[in-house]
Amino acid sequence: MPKKIVSACLAGFHCRYDCAHQEREAIKLMVENGEAIAVCPEQMGGLSTPRTPAEIIGNKVISKTGPDVTDAYTKGAEEALKMAQMVGATEAYLKSRSPMCGQGKIYDGTFTGQLTEGDGVFSKLLKQHNIKVISID
Ligand code: SF4
Repeated sequence: MPKKIVSACLAGFHCRYDCAHQEREAIKLMVENGEAIAVCPEQMGGLSTPRTPAEIIGNKVISKTGPDVTDAYTKGAEEALKMAQMVGATEAYLKSRSPMCGQGKIYDGTFTGQLTEGDGVFSKLLKQHNIKVISID
């Protein structure tokens, strides 16, 4: 039974906002070997791919063009948490800096590439449920 969750973009899925992936061989191998399940919480929240990038501003997640996408982020994080709990995951390997999967440092809400301290919506939720998050660049 898989005991790990990974960001789907790290496993090679084209699920980023720009339809790209961020494949990391070691993460892909974990999925191929049945050690991990890949999730994209942004897609699980109903967001399309491609989509306009979003960043956390205060306690909201705001799309670069203005719309508030907090509800989709919250729903996606909850759905992905459900998957983590269903497979009994105790740790997660998640993409750094993302407003959903980032941990420790995330983009600062100015859409200028600057970072600030904080966790993405999914990382924060996992940690609240005692699932360890490992950030992958
Ligand atoms: Fe990757 Fe996570 Fe963003 Fe999906 S939500 S594209 S898995 S960083």
